Amino acid sequence: RRGLAGKPGDFVEFIDIQKTYDGETLVVKNLNLSIRHGEFLTLLGPSGSGKTTSLMMLAGFEVPTQGRIELDGRRINDMAPHKRDIGMVFQNYALFPHMTVEENLAFPLQVRRMPRADIEQKVERALEMVQLSQMRKRRPAQLSGGQQQRVALARALVFDPKLILMDEPLGALDKQLREHMQIEIKHIHQKLDVTVVYVTHDQSEALTMSDRVAVFNDGVVQQLATPTDLYERPENAFVAQFIGESNKLRGVVSSQNGKECIVNVNGHGDVR
Ligand code: ADP
Repeated sequence: RRGLAGKPGDFVEFIDIQKTYDGETLVVKNLNLSIRHGEFLTLLGPSGSGKTTSLMMLAGFEVPTQGRIELDGRRINDMAPHKRDIGMVFQNYALFPHMTVEENLAFPLQVRRMPRADIEQKVERALEMVQLSQMRKRRPAQLSGGQQQRVALARALVFDPKLILMDEPLGALDKQLREHMQIEIKHIHQKLDVTVVYVTHDQSEALTMSDRVAVFNDGVVQQLATPTDLYERPENAFVAQFIGESNKLRGVVSSQNGKECIVNVNGHGDVR
């Protein structure tokens, strides 16, 4: 069995995935999800809906209770996290405080026993990508929150992973910086041949950044669609309400023919 819209060319597949932490309550109920090569896919949903658990199963820090996860055609349910070659960015950066910026970036390459000259070259490129070349000798405590976040992003990119997972990476930043970083992350995604799986509970962030969005509620994907389709054609009341909340100025949730849907008050289908 293939996942939702599963077909060759899909890069990540969750197939009939279930997860329980206590042996009883399913926090991921029956996840079928296909993620395409190179796309920016966001897991969006309220707190506790199973987004992080799904991401952690893909990263290898949690094991599915049932089902199968494939990465590039290989079953990875039991593969150790470091063997998956996946870059990760979290909200709390997780930088090494005693290391400089460039030492932080070199670390994942040293772990992979890369030759010194290659390490220098890759660190240089990653620093340029996030515009932090000037800050290379500083330690994390000597950087602003936004700069620390960019170091974390550079560290996830530095070993050229094919897949990057981000869990609420901008959650700790103020609104202006968050919007700036959204654009920066989008640019980096467009520049690199990399697939991004992004977790957020922020509807407008998901709609602005993603090629497709999987809307989670209570351990179930309610809808998987492009931002425009989610906005214009929500498949159920939950999606309509959840997406509609971020578009109060332009759309309202309304009941038509006994079905809830979004009525667009400015007559445009655009999301921005
Ligand atoms: P989200 O990322 O959407 O906020 P999570 O995947 O973090 O949701 O959590 C889904 C559910 O699983 C929640 O009810 C949460 O309390 C529970 N949960 C998450 N991690 C653990 C854990 N390590 N042990 C037990 N329960 C957990």
